[in-house]
Order: sequence, then C-alpha cells, then structure tokens
Amino acid sequence: MPGEFALIDRIRARAARRDDVVRGIGDDAAVLAVPDGHELVVTCDTLVAGVHFPDGTAPSDVGYKALAVNLSDLAAMAAAPAWCTLALTLPDGDEAWLDAFLDGFLELADEHGVSLVGGDTTRGPLAMTVTAHGLVPAGQALLRSGARVGEDIWVTGTLGDAAGGLAQWRQRGPASAKLRYRLDRPTPRVQAGLALRGLASAAVDLSDGLAADLGHVLAASGVGARLDLGRLPCSRTLADHFDENRRWELQLTGGDDYELCFTAPAARALEIEQALAALELPATVVGQVEAEPGLRLLTPEGGAWTPPATGYQHFEGGHA
Ligand code: ADP
Ligand code: MG
Repeated sequence: MPGEFALIDRIRARAARRDDVVRGIGDDAAVLAVPDGHELVVTCDTLVAGVHFPDGTAPSDVGYKALAVNLSDLAAMAAAPAWCTLALTLPDGDEAWLDAFLDGFLELADEHGVSLVGGDTTRGPLAMTVTAHGLVPAGQALLRSGARVGEDIWVTGTLGDAAGGLAQWRQRGPASAKLRYRLDRPTPRVQAGLALRGLASAAVDLSDGLAADLGHVLAASGVGARLDLGRLPCSRTLADHFDENRRWELQLTGGDDYELCFTAPAARALEIEQALAALELPATVVGQVEAEPGLRLLTPEGGAWTPPATGYQHFEGGHA
C-alpha cells in the first residue's frame, strides 16, 4: 500500500502550474502572487461520502464536483478562479481511486486555469475539503447584501435537475441519466459571474435550493421578495419525470443546482441578457425584490404556495 508521500507525488506530478505560483506543492506552504489592485476571494467546501454524493459515485465525478462546488462560490462573488488546495481523507491509499478522482478534479481545474498548489493527505472515512482562491478587481466582488427593492431576481440555466436525479436515486426506481449527470457534474457558472460584474447588485450560488439561498440574499439585504413559480426555468427532462408540484419542490428546496441567482435593476435587463447569451447561458427573471420581508411564492394563478421544507440543512432533521 502506498504511503502518504507516494500519493502526494502522484498528485504533484499532474498538477498544472500557473505563472503566478511562486511555490506550489512541495514546500510547507504555497506562495502565490496577488496582482496589484486586486482582492483575494477565498472559499472552502467539504464533500463527505454518503452526505454530499451517493456512495458508489464514480471517483472522477467526485473529483469534478469537489472543485465545482468551490468554483461556484467564486462565481457567485464574480471572482476569477486562480488557485486551490485539496485536503483529502482516504480510507486506504487506493492509487486507482486517486488517479480517477484527479481525472475529474484536474479536468475542471484545467478548464478554468486553476492551479492545485497544496493540500493535505490523511487516512480516514472518505471526505475531501477544497479551498479555492479567486481574484477580483478591488471593490468589485458581488455580495449578498446588495439587493434593492424593485429589482429583478434572475437565475441562470434550469433548476431542479440535480435534485430530481438525487430523488430518483433514493427511490431506486427508473432514473434519468441526464438528471444524474447534473447531480454528479454541476457546471460552475464562472464566466457568468465575471460577466455580471457591474451589472448585478447581489448574487448567490444555488447549493441548498432557491428558497434557502435567495433567502440569504434577502436577509443580508434587508428586503423580501416575490417569486413566480410559473417562471422557474425547468429542463425538458425534469418536466418529463416529475409533475408540476413536485418540480417546484425540487427547484425551490432540492439543492445542488450550482446555478447563480442574482438581482439587478430592471434597466440592466437587456445588457444582462446579451452578456449571458454571449456565453450561451440562458437566464430568467423569476421574481422581484420587495420591501416586505420574507419570500412569497406565487403559483401561475396568483395563489400562495408553501414548500414542504426550505433547503438542505446539516444538523437538522435526520441528516448528518
Ligand atoms: P506538512 O507536513 O509540512 O504539512 P505535507 O507532508 O502534508 O507537509 O505535504 C507536503 C506537500 O504536499 C505540501 O506542499 C502540501 O501542500 C502538499 N500536499 C499534501 N497533500 C496534498 C494534496 N492532497 N493535494 C495537493 N497537495 C498536497
Ligand atoms: Mg500537511
């Protein structure tokens, strides 16, 4: 069985290196050059086997998702991803597992020009913590606290696919490969986040479901909102597999979408549409920011709709 250092050598051999990495894997810490006039944006997310991905998920998908969820956080801040570290806990020193994990992880890292510059390797129940570092021109990060009354609420892409894939996996019944793919390989909306600098007033990435994540923006901004359920963007596949009520539940409370939700003045709508169309990413206005606190969910008929729960919360209910 290979030791910790053999595993680290395997990782080091494959990690790409940007010019601004003064010292990467191999010293006691990484040394990174932050360009003048920029702020460093740092985020950290952990994936635990059986909690954040179903047991038996392909290791390359686990690697992809471990980085994707972090790049999604950078995207929501309008930061350009630059570097990451990887704290990996493995039950045994399985080199084949590590190689496949790195296939997915480094595929996404290379796509976004991100260098893996360090980490930690330990033995224990399968889990990984990635810290990602991004750069933003000083003062231009998109915050949760910027939403203003009267603004539009937008979401990118479609919502609910990943949650639909997870629901089908849990039921052990017929499952759509398309929905499952969205669960295993979420696309971090990095370019969209960059395009929204100076256009959006606030942003959040959708990891816990639109209701909970938009709720964070509303709370941070001291406002409320109305969401029109009939406008929630939905994939053809999700519509084929779930009825309308179940879809709303998945879209609002399911989580794992990793789309962006952002607010902007109505006067910026055309610019936003054009900027995102250039990225071939559809974006939809799904509601409006209002003065009255709280989130009001309206059906196409104008009635109020109450979700069964509001987003995945660790330490609540039966979850770990
Ligand atoms: P130390 O004991 O000084 O923390 P380690 O032996 O843990 O050093 O790590 C040696 C080098 O390998 C460090 O540069 C560290 O950042 C890097 N490293 C360790 N594990 C990983 C990993 N999973 N991914 C990337 N780099 C790693
Ligand atoms: Mg260490």
